[in-house]
Amino acid sequence: MRNDMSGPRVLMRRIRELMAERLEPQSRLDQIVRLIAETMVAEVCSLYVLRADAVLELYATEGLNPGSVHLAQLKLGEGLVGTIAATARPLNLSDAQKHPAFTYLPETGEEIYHSFLGVPILRAGRTLGVLVVQNKSARVYRDEESEALETVAMVVAEMIAAGGLEGLTRPGVALDLTRPVTFEGVALSEGIGIGRVVLHEPRVVVTNLFNENMEAEVERLGEALGFLRVSIEDMLARRDVAGEGEHRQVLEAYRMFAHDRGWVRRLEEAVRNGLTAEAAVEKVQSDMRARMMHLTDPYIRERLHDFDDLANRLLRQLIGRADGDLAEADDTIVVARQMGAAELLDYRRGQIRGLVLEEGAPTSHVVIVARALGIPVVGQAKGAVSMSENRDAIIVDGEDGSVHLRPPGEIEALFADKVRFRAERQQRYRSLRDQPSRTKDGVEIQLQMNAGLLVDLPQLEESGAEGIGLFRTELQFMVASTMPRASDQERLYSAVLDAAGGRPVTFRTLDVGGDKLLPYLNQSPEDNPALGYRALRLALDRPGLMRTQLRALLKAAAGRELRVMFPMVTDVSEVRQGRELIQRELKHLTRFGYELPKALKIGAMIEVPALLFQLDALMESLDFVSIGSNDLFQFFTAVDRGNTRMAGRFDDLSAPFFRALRLVLDAGRRHCVPVTLCGEMAGRPLSAMALIGLGFRSISMAAPSVGPVKAMIVALDASELSELMDAHLSETLPAVTLRQALVDFAKSHAIPY
Ligand code: PEP
Ligand code: MG
Repeated sequence: MRNDMSGPRVLMRRIRELMAERLEPQSRLDQIVRLIAETMVAEVCSLYVLRADAVLELYATEGLNPGSVHLAQLKLGEGLVGTIAATARPLNLSDAQKHPAFTYLPETGEEIYHSFLGVPILRAGRTLGVLVVQNKSARVYRDEESEALETVAMVVAEMIAAGGLEGLTRPGVALDLTRPVTFEGVALSEGIGIGRVVLHEPRVVVTNLFNENMEAEVERLGEALGFLRVSIEDMLARRDVAGEGEHRQVLEAYRMFAHDRGWVRRLEEAVRNGLTAEAAVEKVQSDMRARMMHLTDPYIRERLHDFDDLANRLLRQLIGRADGDLAEADDTIVVARQMGAAELLDYRRGQIRGLVLEEGAPTSHVVIVARALGIPVVGQAKGAVSMSENRDAIIVDGEDGSVHLRPPGEIEALFADKVRFRAERQQRYRSLRDQPSRTKDGVEIQLQMNAGLLVDLPQLEESGAEGIGLFRTELQFMVASTMPRASDQERLYSAVLDAAGGRPVTFRTLDVGGDKLLPYLNQSPEDNPALGYRALRLALDRPGLMRTQLRALLKAAAGRELRVMFPMVTDVSEVRQGRELIQRELKHLTRFGYELPKALKIGAMIEVPALLFQLDALMESLDFVSIGSNDLFQFFTAVDRGNTRMAGRFDDLSAPFFRALRLVLDAGRRHCVPVTLCGEMAGRPLSAMALIGLGFRSISMAAPSVGPVKAMIVALDASELSELMDAHLSETLPAVTLRQALVDFAKSHAIPY
């Protein structure tokens, strides 16, 4: 290569011309390596491509024995080429044979070459192959030569990703890019989704790789960086992130990176080597990701995500959003690192068949919303984003928590069967829809559904639920970017009552705080938010918020029955205060001549164990209670409900928890106050069976669970189960766990659970 800075640019210009020609894939590769060898004055240039079986195969060479193309192979990690692929880092050696990893491939005749420069072919941080130049003399390759080779590698990466090497692979030997991958994650929402990948954060596809005017391009990069920095400063200055907290930390990390001299220098260098600004961002991001992907330190990995986010913002700044229409396809499976509930709802226009999250916990809100919509979700699928390409085939198994990316034919066939089987089952549930929810021994069980948004309402008809046992009013607040106005609230409540058509609807007052944060509500960070300033605690201190909501509810229910319940009650006195607020609103509406609800029922959720020891006082002050078993179990066992590491460690189908639930049922009976339960356990047939055995006659669950639970009910003899449970709960040291006893019962009575 000539000793001035135009060397890399000459190479890029010639590669660009070459890419524009119409050529067969093999001759394009042959010409690429010839061109590189010529421009860099190297005797050898070779291109290796990584196959699905972790072997690097020689795809083209200038200088080595041409007969060894498609024959010479190295395993990942073997030899210099294998080392580059495994570490995703370049190697620049003046005497290659002295390197401990050097291996000699006799078929190539490469023993006479001393100097060696090899770079990984990277795309989105994944290694797709290796590009190498060699010289007989012991020369040292300059940094800009290495940069130039990396840049050409990027062009080759795009060619591989775009399917440009199809037809060159031998039958049965696939490229690594198309390798099937299975992720073992955590099942977060039931069901099976078969479809094609849509990356939630679209990987902006850079199609314009080579710049025409280097100076203009450096300027464009500088401007985009300037905009990026200003937008980060703006976000930092906004009131809702002005305090301390996670939002702010992330933004501060962005700010640090956006000013990072090393990053900016690498970007500029790539532009000076002939790339467009966007191609430079992609190249530097891909290098960085490849290097950091091997690190396991969670802090560094988190920073890597921050860097990715920042680079994506910069790309969008440079070329705008890409892939905008992908989500409209009706076979969409969204793959994301994490996502908010509102973002999931944005996809409703196209039908989503599944969701894969690299993070995500069982009761995070996006998951609750997905469950309500019947979308299968698998979380904790580490690495799913970088391994996926838009439109790759993918299967989400929300039953066992696995994700199959680019599944081979046998797996596809297996799942096609599984889906058919599920569809038959759904058909059976549908046929149960209009049948009474009654056990074999004639016990009526009221099955209601949980909801929170307008999109949930059609499910009331479809599921055959008898009403809405829990309407989570905070979801409207969570999906909005600003506080919903009183009129918006009233409109939603009124639409819900219309859709219910006389069936009961229980509205829960705003339950924010804990894991349900509203970006526009200035909540200061707490060490233990689940135990902190949340729900009714916050509402009673900020009566403005609560009164607006109560007024909207009372107005929406004019002339109809209104059921309101308070979340997270800890002390009976809080119920009294809540009631007083309702009374004030009633008085206000009366004074101004509004029509009032025909009937008003006030209830509370039992979610805090302290309430178990004030049950008599509680029952006397209320019309009904509903057990929020998600929170009650979390506080009962001192286990964070969103912590995947602790999930499943303690069982909610266990004697201690059921003894606690029985206290509530007994108190309800003493005071003739209806008791229901609306946590996630009501939607699992086995748990629902246990609740009925304990004495529950009303439960509320996600709509898709109504069918499976009813199928269990019609096969159940409630009194027989009751006897078994009474006996089990009165034993001090039963021989088997409660869960085991229930499973045995269900099996021996052919009850679907
Ligand atoms: C519960 O805690 O069980 C409940 C139903 O409320 P949420 O899941 O909304 O906290
Ligand atoms: Mg709760």
